[in-house]
Amino acid sequence: MDHKTNCLICGHELVYKDRSDKLECYFCKKIYESNVKCVNGHFICDSCHSLPANELIKQFCINSKLEDPIEMALILMRNQKIRMHGPEHHFLVPAVLLVSYYNLKNDTEKKVEKIKEAEKRAKNLLGGFCGYYGACAAGIGTGVFISLITEATPLSKHEWKLSNMMTSKSLLSIANVGGPRCCKRNTFLAITEAVNFLIENFGITMNINKNLKCEFNSLNKECLKDECPYFYSILEK
Ligand SMILES: [Zn+2]
Ligand SMILES: [Zn+2]
Repeated sequence: MDHKTNCLICGHELVYKDRSDKLECYFCKKIYESNVKCVNGHFICDSCHSLPANELIKQFCINSKLEDPIEMALILMRNQKIRMHGPEHHFLVPAVLLVSYYNLKNDTEKKVEKIKEAEKRAKNLLGGFCGYYGACAAGIGTGVFISLITEATPLSKHEWKLSNMMTSKSLLSIANVGGPRCCKRNTFLAITEAVNFLIENFGITMNINKNLKCEFNSLNKECLKDECPYFYSILEK
């Protein structure tokens, strides 16, 4: 699928009509007049088109009604603003987990508040942490997520334990696959670890797509290919 020229959400063709329709933007949910949408009806407004990566993630997450964090990660990753590799993944990980968590709880107010706090915290998670600090920040993003939902601080007891335990589980899973870095692989691994952690420690089930296949390997010149759990070759496509 070609997400560079086709629909940024599903990758299918765009349809150009001769007259405009009222369409809802997939990201901000505002209504606009437009004559361009994809064959599946997706439309993205001009202001969402021009948002920087973290703003786009925030807009999408605040408005999303979805409950599968992997599905949300894929939708965001297909957007050109989210680079193959980049620190926007450090915000993306806690953001999609927060959406899923608070949508399952039906608590939009908390969701918005926590997403904004996650964005602030993610600003300190710089690119290259994985190699230079020995802590992939997509993995740290899951610790940020648990810290936010448990309202942990440096002085907490159980919440502190859970937050650090979460990060350690994600980092172990990321380390076990080995380098070089891939922000897609590590995002998928981290989200999967967080989903497992929620079942074990909170009794909360987020239903995720377990047959996840990476759509981005052709963009990654360091792709581990057969050694990556999410790789599938062009022959299988
Ligand atoms: Zn589409
Ligand atoms: Zn929009």
